[in-house]
Amino acid sequence: MNLVLFGPPGAGKGTQAKVITEQRGLPQLSTGEMLRAAIAAGTELGKASKAIMDRGDLVSDDIVVGIIGERYDQPDCAKGAVFDGFPRTIPQAEALDAMLAKRGRKIDLVIELKVDDKILIDRVEQRIKESGGTTRSDDTPETLKARLAVYYKNTAPLLEYYKHQGKVVTVDGMKPIVEVTRQIGAAIDAKARH
Ligand code: AMP
Repeated sequence: MNLVLFGPPGAGKGTQAKVITEQRGLPQLSTGEMLRAAIAAGTELGKASKAIMDRGDLVSDDIVVGIIGERYDQPDCAKGAVFDGFPRTIPQAEALDAMLAKRGRKIDLVIELKVDDKILIDRVEQRIKESGGTTRSDDTPETLKARLAVYYKNTAPLLEYYKHQGKVVTVDGMKPIVEVTRQIGAAIDAKARH
Protein backbone atom coordinates (compact mmCIF):
# COMPACT_ATOMS: atom_id res chain seq x y z
CA MET A 1 0.00 0.00 0.00
CA ASN A 2 1.14 3.52 -0.80
CA LEU A 3 -0.09 6.10 1.63
CA VAL A 4 0.29 9.87 1.85
CA LEU A 5 0.16 11.58 5.24
CA PHE A 6 -1.10 15.05 4.54
CA GLY A 7 -1.32 18.09 6.78
CA PRO A 8 0.31 21.32 7.93
CA PRO A 9 3.66 21.49 9.76
CA GLY A 10 3.23 20.19 13.29
CA ALA A 11 0.12 18.13 12.45
CA GLY A 12 1.81 14.93 13.62
CA LYS A 13 2.67 13.41 10.22
CA GLY A 14 6.15 12.29 11.30
CA THR A 15 4.91 10.80 14.58
CA GLN A 16 2.14 8.84 12.88
CA ALA A 17 4.34 7.76 9.97
CA LYS A 18 6.75 6.18 12.45
CA VAL A 19 3.90 4.24 14.10
CA ILE A 20 2.68 2.96 10.70
CA THR A 21 6.24 1.87 9.89
CA GLU A 22 6.51 0.00 13.20
CA GLN A 23 3.10 -1.63 12.97
CA ARG A 24 2.94 -2.44 9.27
CA GLY A 25 6.50 -2.48 8.03
CA LEU A 26 5.89 0.20 5.41
CA PRO A 27 8.92 2.52 5.29
CA GLN A 28 8.49 6.23 6.07
CA LEU A 29 9.61 8.39 3.14
CA SER A 30 10.07 11.86 4.60
CA THR A 31 11.63 14.38 2.23
CA GLY A 32 12.21 16.73 5.19
CA GLU A 33 14.25 14.05 6.99
CA MET A 34 16.16 13.20 3.81
CA LEU A 35 17.01 16.87 3.28
CA ARG A 36 18.10 17.27 6.94
CA ALA A 37 20.30 14.18 6.52
CA ALA A 38 21.86 15.76 3.40
CA ILE A 39 22.55 18.97 5.36
CA ALA A 40 24.12 16.98 8.23
CA ALA A 41 26.28 15.07 5.73
CA GLY A 42 27.38 18.33 4.08
CA THR A 43 26.43 17.21 0.55
CA GLU A 44 25.86 19.63 -2.33
CA LEU A 45 22.12 18.95 -2.02
CA GLY A 46 22.28 19.81 1.67
CA LYS A 47 24.21 23.02 1.03
CA ALA A 48 21.73 24.09 -1.64
CA SER A 49 18.72 23.32 0.57
CA LYS A 50 19.67 24.70 3.98
CA ALA A 51 18.93 28.40 3.46
CA ILE A 52 15.65 27.62 1.69
CA MET A 53 14.53 25.36 4.54
CA ASP A 54 15.58 27.86 7.21
CA ARG A 55 13.37 30.46 5.53
CA GLY A 56 10.45 28.02 5.53
CA ASP A 57 10.27 27.96 1.73
CA LEU A 58 9.97 24.89 -0.47
CA VAL A 59 12.96 23.20 -2.05
CA SER A 60 12.46 22.84 -5.83
CA ASP A 61 10.11 20.18 -7.15
CA ASP A 62 12.89 18.61 -9.27
CA ILE A 63 15.08 18.06 -6.23
CA VAL A 64 12.47 16.41 -4.02
CA VAL A 65 10.98 14.36 -6.88
CA GLY A 66 14.51 13.14 -7.65
CA ILE A 67 15.29 12.05 -4.09
CA ILE A 68 11.91 10.36 -3.66
CA GLY A 69 12.31 8.45 -6.94
CA GLU A 70 15.70 7.16 -5.87
CA ARG A 71 14.50 6.21 -2.41
CA TYR A 72 11.38 4.46 -3.69
CA ASP A 73 13.46 2.05 -5.75
CA GLN A 74 15.11 0.63 -2.63
CA PRO A 75 14.00 -2.95 -1.86
CA ASP A 76 12.26 -2.02 1.42
CA CYS A 77 9.59 -0.17 -0.61
CA ALA A 78 8.56 -3.38 -2.42
CA LYS A 79 5.22 -3.43 -0.56
CA GLY A 80 4.74 0.33 -0.69
CA ALA A 81 5.56 3.27 1.53
CA VAL A 82 4.25 6.04 3.74
CA PHE A 83 4.92 9.43 2.17
CA ASP A 84 5.42 12.06 4.86
CA GLY A 85 5.79 15.70 3.82
CA PHE A 86 5.72 14.76 0.14
CA PRO A 87 4.08 15.72 -2.17
CA ARG A 88 3.76 19.39 -1.22
CA THR A 89 2.78 20.89 -4.60
CA ILE A 90 0.54 19.83 -7.48
CA PRO A 91 3.55 19.19 -9.80
CA GLN A 92 5.07 16.95 -7.10
CA ALA A 93 1.79 15.00 -6.83
CA GLU A 94 1.65 14.61 -10.61
CA ALA A 95 5.28 13.46 -10.70
CA LEU A 96 4.56 10.97 -7.90
CA ASP A 97 1.54 9.56 -9.74
CA ALA A 98 3.64 9.20 -12.91
CA MET A 99 6.54 7.61 -11.01
CA LEU A 100 4.21 5.06 -9.38
CA ALA A 101 2.30 4.37 -12.61
CA LYS A 102 5.59 3.47 -14.32
CA ARG A 103 6.06 0.83 -11.65
CA GLY A 104 2.46 -0.45 -11.95
CA ARG A 105 1.47 1.17 -8.66
CA LYS A 106 -0.59 4.06 -7.32
CA ILE A 107 -1.37 6.09 -4.23
CA ASP A 108 -4.05 4.08 -2.42
CA LEU A 109 -4.93 6.41 0.42
CA VAL A 110 -4.36 10.00 1.55
CA ILE A 111 -4.82 10.65 5.26
CA GLU A 112 -5.48 14.30 6.03
CA LEU A 113 -4.53 15.28 9.58
CA LYS A 114 -6.65 18.29 10.47
CA VAL A 115 -5.29 20.63 13.16
CA ASP A 116 -6.10 24.28 13.98
CA ASP A 117 -3.33 26.85 13.42
CA LYS A 118 -3.27 27.92 17.06
CA ILE A 119 -2.55 24.33 18.15
CA LEU A 120 0.15 23.94 15.47
CA ILE A 121 1.96 26.99 16.82
CA ASP A 122 1.69 25.67 20.41
CA ARG A 123 3.03 22.28 19.29
CA VAL A 124 6.04 23.68 17.46
CA GLU A 125 6.82 25.94 20.44
CA GLN A 126 6.68 22.83 22.62
CA ARG A 127 8.96 20.94 20.19
CA ILE A 128 11.45 23.83 20.34
CA LYS A 129 11.42 23.81 24.16
CA GLU A 130 11.88 20.04 24.35
CA SER A 131 14.78 20.00 21.91
CA GLY A 132 16.49 22.99 23.49
CA GLY A 133 16.39 24.52 20.01
CA THR A 134 19.03 22.14 18.68
CA THR A 135 17.37 19.60 16.41
CA ARG A 136 15.72 21.65 13.66
CA SER A 137 16.94 25.05 12.61
CA ASP A 138 13.57 25.69 10.89
CA ASP A 139 11.67 25.20 14.17
CA THR A 140 11.29 28.83 15.21
CA PRO A 141 8.01 30.70 15.68
CA GLU A 142 8.89 33.01 12.72
CA THR A 143 9.78 30.17 10.36
CA LEU A 144 6.68 28.29 11.41
CA LYS A 145 4.54 31.23 10.28
CA ALA A 146 6.31 31.20 6.90
CA ARG A 147 5.91 27.41 6.64
CA LEU A 148 2.19 27.70 7.43
CA ALA A 149 1.74 30.39 4.77
CA VAL A 150 3.54 28.18 2.23
CA TYR A 151 1.35 25.26 3.31
CA TYR A 152 -1.88 27.15 2.67
CA LYS A 153 -0.67 28.62 -0.60
CA ASN A 154 1.13 25.67 -2.24
CA THR A 155 0.19 22.50 -0.41
CA ALA A 156 -3.41 22.78 0.80
CA PRO A 157 -4.73 22.94 -2.83
CA LEU A 158 -3.39 19.40 -3.26
CA LEU A 159 -6.21 18.15 -1.10
CA GLU A 160 -8.64 18.91 -3.93
CA TYR A 161 -6.38 16.99 -6.33
CA TYR A 162 -6.63 13.90 -4.14
CA LYS A 163 -10.31 14.42 -3.25
CA HIS A 164 -10.99 14.45 -6.96
CA GLN A 165 -9.34 11.01 -7.10
CA GLY A 166 -11.55 9.90 -4.17
CA LYS A 167 -8.59 9.04 -1.96
CA VAL A 168 -8.86 11.34 1.06
CA VAL A 169 -9.80 10.25 4.57
CA THR A 170 -9.80 13.09 7.12
CA VAL A 171 -8.70 12.43 10.70
CA ASP A 172 -8.98 14.87 13.61
CA GLY A 173 -5.31 15.45 14.43
CA MET A 174 -6.19 17.27 17.67
CA LYS A 175 -7.24 14.04 19.38
CA PRO A 176 -4.71 12.23 21.60
CA ILE A 177 -1.89 10.55 19.62
CA VAL A 178 -3.18 7.00 20.29
CA GLU A 179 -6.65 7.96 19.08
CA VAL A 180 -5.22 9.48 15.89
CA THR A 181 -3.20 6.28 15.40
CA ARG A 182 -6.36 4.20 15.88
CA GLN A 183 -8.33 6.19 13.32
CA ILE A 184 -5.51 6.03 10.77
CA GLY A 185 -5.24 2.27 11.37
CA ALA A 186 -8.98 1.87 10.77
CA ALA A 187 -8.74 3.82 7.49
CA ILE A 188 -5.81 1.67 6.30
CA ASP A 189 -7.62 -1.55 7.26
CA ALA A 190 -10.80 -0.44 5.48
CA LYS A 191 -8.75 0.34 2.36
CA ALA A 192 -6.90 -2.98 2.53
CA ARG A 193 -10.24 -4.88 2.65
CA HIS A 194 -11.35 -3.79 -0.79
P1 AMP B 1 9.35 18.80 7.01
O1 AMP B 1 10.31 18.04 7.85
O2 AMP B 1 8.46 17.90 6.20
O3 AMP B 1 8.56 19.81 7.80
O4 AMP B 1 10.21 19.63 5.95
C1 AMP B 1 11.13 20.61 6.36
C2 AMP B 1 11.48 21.53 5.20
O5 AMP B 1 12.10 20.77 4.16
C3 AMP B 1 10.31 22.22 4.55
O6 AMP B 1 9.92 23.41 5.22
C4 AMP B 1 10.87 22.50 3.15
O7 AMP B 1 11.77 23.59 3.16
C5 AMP B 1 11.70 21.25 2.87
N1 AMP B 1 10.86 20.19 2.24
C6 AMP B 1 10.50 18.99 2.79
N2 AMP B 1 9.74 18.28 1.95
C7 AMP B 1 9.56 19.06 0.85
C8 AMP B 1 8.84 18.91 -0.35
N3 AMP B 1 8.11 17.81 -0.61
N4 AMP B 1 8.91 19.91 -1.27
C9 AMP B 1 9.64 21.02 -1.05
N5 AMP B 1 10.33 21.25 0.08
C10 AMP B 1 10.30 20.28 1.04
